[in-house]
Amino acid sequence: MFGSVVVGIGTAGFVRIRDMLAPLPSSAAEKLSVKGFISRRILEEQQGVKQITVEDALSRDDIKVAFVCTENAAHEENIRMFLEAGKHVCVEYPMAMTHKTAVDLWDLAQEKGVVLHEEHIELLTADFKQLKKDVAGKRLEEGFLHFTGGPLKTGFGFPAFSGIARLTWLVDLFGELSVTAASMEEDQENKYMKMTAQLITKEQKPLTWIEEWAPGLPRAKDINFRFDSCTITQLPPATREPVGIFMQDLVLFSQKLLGQVPRDQLHAERCRVLHCLELADRIQQLSLQGSAQDT
Ligand code: NAD
Repeated sequence: MFGSVVVGIGTAGFVRIRDMLAPLPSSAAEKLSVKGFISRRILEEQQGVKQITVEDALSRDDIKVAFVCTENAAHEENIRMFLEAGKHVCVEYPMAMTHKTAVDLWDLAQEKGVVLHEEHIELLTADFKQLKKDVAGKRLEEGFLHFTGGPLKTGFGFPAFSGIARLTWLVDLFGELSVTAASMEEDQENKYMKMTAQLITKEQKPLTWIEEWAPGLPRAKDINFRFDSCTITQLPPATREPVGIFMQDLVLFSQKLLGQVPRDQLHAERCRVLHCLELADRIQQLSLQGSAQDT
């Protein structure tokens, strides 16, 4: 069994505890058992699970795994601390706020011989799986993905990082990308943010990615993918799967702990995660350069 601790009791932390308390029957997730949670607040028991200290979690031999579910800005410090202590880490996306940090963390995990896993539930939804099937074999001419939501919570970082799930979709659908331009509009007083990134595929086809955050904006994705044969403007209807997306991710992470995930899959996943973070870095850099020139 892999004793686990959950760090950060927000939406994601709550779900991690819930799923470990009732894992998918006969799945690898049954090998996880939650031993406690860590929070900067003093909290009551959560779903019957007790709060423990960081020191306790780091030193206890029966705790082998940490789930890092805090705001993004605290991910690096938490991941590093648990990896240094020889614990496996599952972190909610994005792993880090720079590409370089993610490379360092991955190297550290390798040096310590432990698993470092970045959750990507957006790839596990029924509608995305259907979209991927629909896109397969088609030649993209031009694409557009506009996400709205908001407002962006403090500690979640630059929109290219907090919105890494959308970028991951684009990379998973269309392969390696490059950034050709990026800009950012911001009205801090009204908590408004709009990031626009221009990307191109290896075949030099343009993709526009917009993240727009403001109070009152609905959480929604608008897509327009024009192919040589057709245009997709809506996510395909797909029946919700019986196994929830966080549970699917928990099973995948547990399979990694048990050494059940093939090396080439692990390698491909690491390449995708690092590629997305590298793109996010570049988008942030170009956006901030543009903002500096405007002022
Ligand atoms: P949340 O706002 O619900 O929770 C954030 C956590 O940060 C809280 O548990 C809290 O412990 C901690 N925190 C923040 N500020 C704090 C403060 N001032 N004092 C004490 N604690 C504080 O966020 P969330 O949705 O659970 O997101 C957590 C992570 O999970 C993020 O990295 C996010 O990108 C990732 N994620 C979330 C979802 C989701 O569905 N909620 C999906 C995918 C990834």
